[in-house]
Amino acid sequence: MSSAARNAAIRLIARKSPLPVDAETADVPQFFGVNAFGLDHIRERLPKAAYESLEKCMERGGELDPDLADLVANEMKLWAVERGATHFTHWFQPMTGATAEKHDSFVDMDFANGGVLMDFSGKALVKGEPDASSFPSGGLRATFEARGYTAWDPTSPAFIRETSSGATLCIPTAFCSWTGEALDEKTPLLRSAEAVDHAALKVLRLLGDDKVGHVFPTLGCEQEYFLVDRDLYVLRPDLVASGRTLFGAKPPKGQELDDHYFGAVPNRVLSFMQDVEQELWKLGVPLKTRHNEVAPSQYELAPIFERTTVASDHNMLTMQVLKDVARRHGFQCCLHEKPFAGVNGSGKHNNWSLSTDTGENLLEPGNSPEQNMRFVVLLAAVLRAVDLYADILRASIGTAGNDHRLGANEAPPAILSVYLGEQLTEVMEGLISGTKGESRKGGTMQLGVTSLPALPRDATDRNRTSPFAFTGNKFEFRAVGSSQSPSKPMTVLNTIVADSLEFIASEIESRLGEGLEAAVNDVVAEVFRTHQRVVFNGNGYSDEWHAEAAERGLPNVPNAVDALASFGEEKNVQLFDRLGVLSDKESLSRMNIQLENYSNAIAIEGQSALAIANTMILPAAQRTQRDVAESLASAKAHGLAVAQQQARLAELAEHIEAFVGCIGELAEACEACDEHELPELEHARAYRDKVIPAMNALRSQADHLEMMTSDDYWPLAKYRELLFIH
Ligand code: ADP
Ligand code: MG
Repeated sequence: MSSAARNAAIRLIARKSPLPVDAETADVPQFFGVNAFGLDHIRERLPKAAYESLEKCMERGGELDPDLADLVANEMKLWAVERGATHFTHWFQPMTGATAEKHDSFVDMDFANGGVLMDFSGKALVKGEPDASSFPSGGLRATFEARGYTAWDPTSPAFIRETSSGATLCIPTAFCSWTGEALDEKTPLLRSAEAVDHAALKVLRLLGDDKVGHVFPTLGCEQEYFLVDRDLYVLRPDLVASGRTLFGAKPPKGQELDDHYFGAVPNRVLSFMQDVEQELWKLGVPLKTRHNEVAPSQYELAPIFERTTVASDHNMLTMQVLKDVARRHGFQCCLHEKPFAGVNGSGKHNNWSLSTDTGENLLEPGNSPEQNMRFVVLLAAVLRAVDLYADILRASIGTAGNDHRLGANEAPPAILSVYLGEQLTEVMEGLISGTKGESRKGGTMQLGVTSLPALPRDATDRNRTSPFAFTGNKFEFRAVGSSQSPSKPMTVLNTIVADSLEFIASEIESRLGEGLEAAVNDVVAEVFRTHQRVVFNGNGYSDEWHAEAAERGLPNVPNAVDALASFGEEKNVQLFDRLGVLSDKESLSRMNIQLENYSNAIAIEGQSALAIANTMILPAAQRTQRDVAESLASAKAHGLAVAQQQARLAELAEHIEAFVGCIGELAEACEACDEHELPELEHARAYRDKVIPAMNALRSQADHLEMMTSDDYWPLAKYRELLFIH
């Protein structure tokens, strides 16, 4: 019965061919962004004066003039209706980690002429009131007004989502409570971008720059994902419920051969990728790269970097499009960090830097002494930030899913070190010893006087085992989970770097009496000296590094629960508050929500594992046991030798017994965690310490049973099928 379902699926897949993609044209510039309504569109369509006052309002914040809002809304509606949209929605990112939307049509009664018309008011554009009560607020709503509102974020372009039967105008918004507390991921990200802008400008001014008017963080997300054929996916209730397989014996062929990485993309997959690109290009997402990843059926895409807030919206959109288009092509796109045990998991490498409105990348080592001075100051700021706030950077990527990567036998490790590469490390060391006065020549350097050596921008000088690596003109935060919104890690990174820049600015200021160059030299050297322990260029996966990191006093937090707890620490709460990114209430609410998300994820896994064990795996194993027992009885009746078979049957029975025991233990653990009215942190700890070990024990027995149960009876699509058939 059950293998019949698997085999039917496989036969179906064997007959599938690549879905034709109706590429309108290869001339991408011609259709790039046709489904996005950015500021350029607004500028084109609005009278000059109106656009200028909109721009002013965006710079200073505050309420949009109602007439102006009506004007923008009307233009947006005309454009959207032209593109086939009948509905609009405020599109926001509640703290569930996903995006949310509630659709309204443009349709309104035409009282003057009868019938209906298409209407969209400024009020509807600027502010929405979704029912906020079912989104997590981490206690914020208990003490405040129950409702929340969404507010238009004009810095991120509105866009149109098309399906075969219609289109919807999506308006990126922030989501707040009526008293102004952020209930989403977007608001703190916007605030953190402001904090880093403010702090970086302070430093630039001190260094004598009076041209730059704005500094903004940039982000390019490399997104890894798995594709599984949907006909097999639906035969995995665990993948459907929790995003990962909770059972599954190792396939005969895994990723040992390394033949998948950068290999030829299978045709069906390539056609899927092309479809994804078409759709995202139309949405104005500047996709650039596509390739196979390390594990079988694992792939990656990457866009060209943009401002962090836009890039973050675009990544959320990308994840949505990946899932939607996959369905169209008969695939399921799995964004979970570890859908399959035994092969690589998926990450989202967040490439980050700071840019100026004059078009410069502040992490670009320059050619002039002034540019070098700026570069080294920025470098020092980032090192200090990661060292001082490794705990919250770690917390920002702490999820149940990411625990399978960080701290497991896979990288990157849960120790947040920074890879600088040999040459930059020498520069750092030179500066440190230089100001000690040991030698100001040969090997050491003075900022503003000596130029930096030309730095290699060679892709081979890469350390793939580092969670946070300098890659020539940007940092790459590799430890971010594949399914996560990039907002949280980017909010934390912006904030901690802003803090360091503020610190460095005030240190330089207080020493200006020494002259600018000497002051900068001293401050940078001191920051490097204090925080150089966070620099590590070696193999991050090695045991030696774990030992050495402990010696250096670097935190190693292998699980999300402990990591998340650091959001509640006084120094961190104060940091976010001081920089205007999160109030203390917002910080604590966020910590609680993430802990709750963790508990929920494990609870779902536990329940899903139980259901599958009880109703699918156990009956299949028992049927095999019965078949074998009957076969033995009849063989014995014929006087045949059965000693070996008897032993095998005994072994099978033993595993079934052990399996049933494990089911009991998992059920008990789930129940115990379910019942307790514990505070969020304790609750999450209980799930971590009781349910996860019980699930692991159950899985280990199940995976034995998979190798002993008749293939005819095995109800779950196997790894060899999920990972290798497409
Ligand atoms: P690499 O080979 O170093 O990974 P890529 O050029 O392929 O380099 O970049 C990977 C990602 O980093 C891309 O999304 C790219 O746009 C992004 N990136 C490049 N420069 C920056 C920058 N200054 N700020 C943020 N992201 C950047
Ligand atoms: Mg990269």
